[in-house]
Amino acid sequence: PAMLGILGGGQLGCMFTVAAKTMGYQVTVLDPDPNAPAARFADEHLCAAFDDQAALEKMAANCAAITTEFENVNANSMKWLAQSTFVSPRGECVEIAQDRIREKTFFRDAGLPTAPFLAIEKASDLEVDLSLYLPGILKTARMGYDGKGQVRVKTKEELLTAWQQLKETACVLEKMMPLKTEVSAIVTRSVSGDCAVFPVSENHHFEGILDVSIVPANVTDAVKTSAAAAAKTVASSLGYVGVLAIEFFVLADDSLVVNEMAPRPHNSGHYTLDATTVSQFQQQVRAMCGLPPGDATLLKPVAMVNLLGDVWPGAGTADCKEPDWSSMMSEPSGFLHLYGKKEARVARKMGHYNLLGSNANDVAAKVAALRDELLTAAGRPRPLA
Ligand code: ATP
Ligand code: MG
Ligand code: MG
Repeated sequence: PAMLGILGGGQLGCMFTVAAKTMGYQVTVLDPDPNAPAARFADEHLCAAFDDQAALEKMAANCAAITTEFENVNANSMKWLAQSTFVSPRGECVEIAQDRIREKTFFRDAGLPTAPFLAIEKASDLEVDLSLYLPGILKTARMGYDGKGQVRVKTKEELLTAWQQLKETACVLEKMMPLKTEVSAIVTRSVSGDCAVFPVSENHHFEGILDVSIVPANVTDAVKTSAAAAAKTVASSLGYVGVLAIEFFVLADDSLVVNEMAPRPHNSGHYTLDATTVSQFQQQVRAMCGLPPGDATLLKPVAMVNLLGDVWPGAGTADCKEPDWSSMMSEPSGFLHLYGKKEARVARKMGHYNLLGSNANDVAAKVAALRDELLTAAGRPRPLA
């Protein structure tokens, strides 16, 4: 069977690897972590840095097609691989998503509404009318995820202090938007340009990290349609091949604002493992193999809850215990997914749980209650909202 390659072996790489293996492919994973979750399932694990020349040469020689699960992968490695192998998405697309300044400028140029933003690369960039962006969030242009590298600022003084805290690295200052809710749209675009968009997911965050996703989303059909259309517009104008996720803010008047994109399967799409005809990981395999996108239809309403290390009793200490999954496992339509990470840390993504039912809001309440039960058992009850 053909060998597929993936840069990154975290949980996304792991779920990709499982999908590819069950579809009859072999998989080579490049990841510097000897305990990378994907390594358990891969045919070959190249344990090296993302710019390690010997490892890249091996991948180029062995793999019929290569993808990524890690948005901060070295884009030059992807471009180098593309000289001899089919690489999707292209390194040029990943590069735009890696830099908030380029990303937001791209959205604006594509005619998609963004929050008012200011690119800050040098001190003189701050000599403008800052009231357009305050109160706001200062975000590092590169390497941020799960709300890391972000500071909320109300005044010019707070902004200057925050930028110094961030060591005057390139940033965007984004106006704080009044969010009604948040949604994401995940599109798969094939080599021949066909697109399939998964049902839009409604996403709730806790302390900067995705907490619960609900599908169908509690938004109007018009919001769903325009989110899906925006995702297709972005994928097509990038000439993108593969799975691409776009995050949006929904404002009080039901208008949509694009937040950011991820050039890969996305946490808010984990519900597709159990609730759509084809999963986002199978879509990635299809796209990189030149196949048309699979059917993205929702089979049943679903809610997903992320399982962070905080549900592990003793997380981050030497006597850390596995949670008692029996309540989750006793749900006939519940699907527990654990990533096999050796060390549970409080804010680390360890797994997720999908629950299908006849009503998305009912299963969303249920998954949150099951998670709260685990938090309480671990001695970390969540404060009431
Ligand atoms: P991810 O893990 O999704 O990559 P990230 O670190 O890249 O996260 P963002 O998606 O930019 O960060 O922001 C995280 C969350 O913070 C958003 O989902 C939203 O809840 C909130 N947020 C970010 N920017 C704004 C804004 N301009 N106005 C209001 N809320 C915001
Ligand atoms: Mg992000
Ligand atoms: Mg985000």
